[in-house]
Amino acid sequence: MSITHSIVLPYGRTAAVDQECQLAIYRGDLEHPSAPGNKWHKLQHHLQAARAQNVTTIGTFGGPFSNHLHAFGATLKDLPFKAVAVVRGELQPTLTPTLRDMADQGVELWPSQRKDFRLGELSDVANCITSRHQDIYWIPEGGGGLLGALGCRDWAEQIYAANPDYDAWVVASGTGTTAAGFLACSHVPALHVFSALKGEPEQKATILDVADTLSDACVSMSDLKGKLHFHGDCHEGGYAKHSQRLIDFMAEFARCNPTEVLDPVYTCKALRAVCQAIETGQWPYRRTLFIHTGGLQGWRGYPQSRNPFVGR
Ligand SMILES: *Cc1c(COP(=O)(O)O)cnc(C)c1O
Repeated sequence: MSITHSIVLPYGRTAAVDQECQLAIYRGDLEHPSAPGNKWHKLQHHLQAARAQNVTTIGTFGGPFSNHLHAFGATLKDLPFKAVAVVRGELQPTLTPTLRDMADQGVELWPSQRKDFRLGELSDVANCITSRHQDIYWIPEGGGGLLGALGCRDWAEQIYAANPDYDAWVVASGTGTTAAGFLACSHVPALHVFSALKGEPEQKATILDVADTLSDACVSMSDLKGKLHFHGDCHEGGYAKHSQRLIDFMAEFARCNPTEVLDPVYTCKALRAVCQAIETGQWPYRRTLFIHTGGLQGWRGYPQSRNPFVGR
């Protein structure tokens, strides 16, 4: 069964406009039942590196509702590694649903102080863990780095093979790792990247740098610059925040597309921005593919009343 679906544009677009501008969604969140979306792909080359280094333990970092941590727990559950995660912030008396799942999957959880957490592999807590498990492989927060991007380049090849006929792709970004991997795939057409973060002007340069490193030698930096369209102004108030117009959009989108469930942090903002560009005649493409990067478990960090897809 195909997991590429067509989207009904919200706010009563006329049929004529819809025909000129078709929007489809590739439901990356439906690929893997337990570790859906981009985070599974970002882990693959890290796991290979860990195997090559013959380590017994893999560690990583993330916030208490992190999609990366969740995918990490779900993926490592069936692999012969011990899994350790450093969680941002002090241990709370009750675990979040994300951390509860991880504990159930056998991941050892370590609390950290925010200041120390930011140091990643160089943090005191990571040093302490490393000294206990000599042979540990650390995956950066969010599953990033070159190896994370490489996994996303592989993912882009797979998506393209099943969806060759589009003239633009859209993806949401946090660290930009997924976008960099997509940009490095020569089959990907014009790539629009919508950042879920506020104030990340340097992210565009990072995406270009990583994509350049991973691209074939015949692809120049100016080719990449021509293909990348980076949007840093659709954060709707900041990371994981919801503006009223975003809340209204999600309700309308869910009414028109009740089964195309969006996540509350990334895909909802990118899709709102695309729909607005289409509506205002600022989207020059005929066939657009929106890549759903997963993250539905993140709704558990919001009151249920905020989720317009519940009960549809
Ligand atoms: C992490 C995440 C992103 C952002 O991916 P980056 O590679 O960090 O840019 C986008 N969408 C969802 C659902 C995510 O969980």
